[in-house]
This record gives sequence, C-alpha cells and structure tokens, in this order.
Amino acid sequence: MNSIPSIVRSHQAFFAAGHTKSIDSRLDVLKKLKHTIKAYEADITAALYQDLHKSEQEAYTTEIGIVLEEISFVMKRLKKWAKPKRVKTPLTHIGSKSVIFPEPYGTVLVIAPWNYPLQLALSPLIGAIAAGNTVVLKPSEYTPAVSAVLSALIRDVFPGDYVALAEGGPDISTALLQQPFDYIFFTGSVAVGKVVMEAAAKQLIPVTLELGGKSPCIVHKDADIKLAAKRIVFGKFTNAGQTCIAPDYLLVHEDIKTELTEEMKRVIGEFYGLQPELNPSYGKIVSERHYQRLLSFLKDGVALIGGQADHRHHKIAPTILDQVTDDSPVMQEEIFGPILPLFAYRGIDEVIEKVKSRPKPLALYVFTTNQTIEREIIENLSFGGGCVNDTLMHVATPYLPFGGVGESGIGSYHGFDSFNTFTHKKSVVKQTNRFDFAFRYPSSKNGLRLIRKILK
Ligand code: NAD
Repeated sequence: MNSIPSIVRSHQAFFAAGHTKSIDSRLDVLKKLKHTIKAYEADITAALYQDLHKSEQEAYTTEIGIVLEEISFVMKRLKKWAKPKRVKTPLTHIGSKSVIFPEPYGTVLVIAPWNYPLQLALSPLIGAIAAGNTVVLKPSEYTPAVSAVLSALIRDVFPGDYVALAEGGPDISTALLQQPFDYIFFTGSVAVGKVVMEAAAKQLIPVTLELGGKSPCIVHKDADIKLAAKRIVFGKFTNAGQTCIAPDYLLVHEDIKTELTEEMKRVIGEFYGLQPELNPSYGKIVSERHYQRLLSFLKDGVALIGGQADHRHHKIAPTILDQVTDDSPVMQEEIFGPILPLFAYRGIDEVIEKVKSRPKPLALYVFTTNQTIEREIIENLSFGGGCVNDTLMHVATPYLPFGGVGESGIGSYHGFDSFNTFTHKKSVVKQTNRFDFAFRYPSSKNGLRLIRKILK
C-alpha cells in the first residue's frame, strides 16, 4: 500500500483535475459498482459467513441487497439532485436570482465498523461518489475476509486515486485522521466517535458520526403479542444482536410479561431451533474479546430464555435476562450481542422517565395499538429514529434519513440524505445590473427608514 499522505495527495489531484465532476461519469461508475457487487455476490456471502456466520438470507437482505437497492435509488434520482436549484429572492433582492449549486466537498474519509462490514462501508461510499467526491475507505480490522473481498471489488471498479481502501486497525485510523480530508464519515462506537471528532476539530473538518447506544423496546399491554414477539426476536437476534439499532433492553407492561416471553421463546425455537448456539446459520460473536465481554453480562440477571454458549464458534444463544438492575454492567453500556434484559412496568410515565434518564438512543421501538400511547412516546422522547409495531425496518428505506441524536450521533444519510451529506450547498446571488437601489448605501438619505419598513 502507498503511504497514507501520498494516497490523500493523489485523491486531491484526481479531484482537482475535475474527474468526478460529470454526472454521467458518476452514474457510469455507480453502474459499474452495482455490476461488480453482483459479480462478487458469492465471494461476499462466503466472506460474511467466515467473519460472522451470516446466513445467505441475512447476507443478502442486510448487506448485499440493501446496497444494490441504494445504488438503484440514487442512480434514478442523481441528475435531479445534482442540478443547480433556483430559489426565491426576498424583496430586498429584487432583480436578482438566487441559486444553490450542489458541490462535492472533495476528498472524503469513510471509517466503517465490523458488524455490517459490507453495507456500512459501501452505503456511505455510494453517497460520497454520487455527490462527486473521492473516497478513502477504512474497513474494520475485525472482519478480514470481507475486507479482502472489498479490496478486490474496489480495485475492479475504481482507480486507486478515486477510491482507495486503507486496511488496518486504530493505528491506520489515527494516521488517516491527521490528513487534510474535506469530510469525515464515521460509523462506530461513541468512544471512538469522540476521538474522530476531536481529530477533525483540529483541522475544522466537517463530520458525520453514526454511533450507537442503548435502544429501548417498549411493549405495551395492548400490543399484538404474537407479532411483537416475532418482530422483536427478529430485530434483536439478527446478526446475533450485533446491530447498532437492535433493541438493547425491553420494557414490557407487567400484565403481558409472561405471555410475551413465552411467545418469544416459541419464536426463537422456530427461527433458530432448540439449540441456537449450535445452529450454523445463527450469527457468531466477532472476536474472543467481544465474546468474553458478553458472557460476563450473563451474570447480571437470571436467564428466562437462553444463556447457553458454544465456545468453539463464539456463539451465545438468544437470551432474555430477568431481574436485572439499572446499575449492573449490562445496563451501563451498549450490549451489542444476543442478550436482552427485560424490565416490567406499570405505567407509561415510568417508561418515559427511564428512557429520559439515559443518553438519547439511536433507535426506539414501541409496540402498541393505542394511538395515545404511540403519540406520548414519540412526542416526549428524543431518539435517532425507530418504529411503531416493528424493529429495524426504518433503516431499510431510502426515503427516511438515518442517524442519531445527542450521544447516538451527528448527521444522517441514506437516499437523498446521503447525497446531501456529502454535498456543500454553495449559495449564489446573481445581481442585476439594470438598476441599483440606493437605500442600502451609507450615503442614502432615507435608507434606514426604508430598510426598517422592509426588514421587520
Ligand atoms: P469501533 O468504534 O470500535 O470501531 C469503528 C472503526 O473505528 C473501526 O474501523 C476501527 O478500526 C476504528 N477505530 C478504532 N479505534 C479507533 C481510534 N482510536 N481512532 C480512530 N479509529 C478507530 O466500533 P465497532 O466495534 O467496529 O462497531 C460497534 C459500534 O458501532 C457500536 O457502538 C455500534 O452501535 C456502532 N454502530 C453504529 C452504526 C450506526 O449506523 N449508527 C452502525 C453500526 C455500528
């Protein structure tokens, strides 16, 4: 690999030469990316299995398919988004035209995590390329098989001075963060997000931070319990709970606690079998360190369901933990694994208070058939995004911006918001020379009187 400063210099030169300017050439390269992902589908699926034991269905649904769909969505609309946009002018500007010119930032750094190693690397890349930037992409060191496929795929589609993969751990990230990038897009933990923002601040580089946190899942007494159980099990145990927007803890109305957990147990059996930890299609924990961290959480409560583990493959069965206290370690940090602590509540006020006492979560889910409860939750709690009567699905639509708020992140992307994130909006007033109002000049006699009339 070339040295990091020389990669960044080559990207700056590629950008400065205007190679990313034409919309047609951006569309061509996105089309090529799409074809190449399709050509690599079997390799990607195998790599995702090697790194995380993702099943073929999970690999396609949550990684390959979603990225292909994002490219199709962007390609269909890019010409419209990239056009200069004429906007109104106020009375003070009569005779002039106001235009917003979408302009790429230049050279972008994308840092990706390991849990959806293809999707979370390529999805921001698509937005950055569509907006006309070059990209240095740093995948996570924890998913080497996917990184190897990404490296080959990227080299097949892009010249190295357009998109380059910088593989390695925090040392490489640290070196990258010292470079004069024009934009940094980071997906990962809150702790590293702070490191990234601090480094970016030194050079005043704008950032998007897609972070994590503890996302609550609320099940009210009037919920459709069968559907709730199915959708919570799906959202929590996909990728063995290693999903940034997975339900982190469950708040269930005390009247339906037993019914819900019994149904969840049945659904877990239906989805993953009676010994999920031995199921080859059930996700594994990414590393020994992450696995040991999760095992230690099992001591923080009583397993109503699950609790078994398979050390050979770092697998932990879907687990629901009862009798957990708020100050136990499992409630002090994002769980990011197949363990779901459960708390019973009596009134919705209790729920609102509990969620409010923590940093604003990335996601929130509420299961209810009562619109008043639904409104109370949405209007009283701040969170990145979420669902009513479902989990995860808000991330899988290109029509909704996806991102956090407060500790769960800064900025958003997907669909138009990806283009917008990687675009500077250059605002230009084109003034007329046919006439010139004197009232704004210091020499104007009645200028102030007139200005007071207009600006009020
Ligand atoms: P992480 O923060 O440990 O690592 C993310 C990336 O940052 C990796 O590429 C890593 O090599 C790099 N990195 C690590 N230390 C660094 C440092 N000191 N300086 C610069 N870069 C560094 O996160 P992770 O373990 O890969 O992913 C899990 C976290 O990511 C969870 O908190 C999860 O919620 C969050 N996440 C968020 C989203 C989202 O879209 N909001 C998506 C997936 C994961």
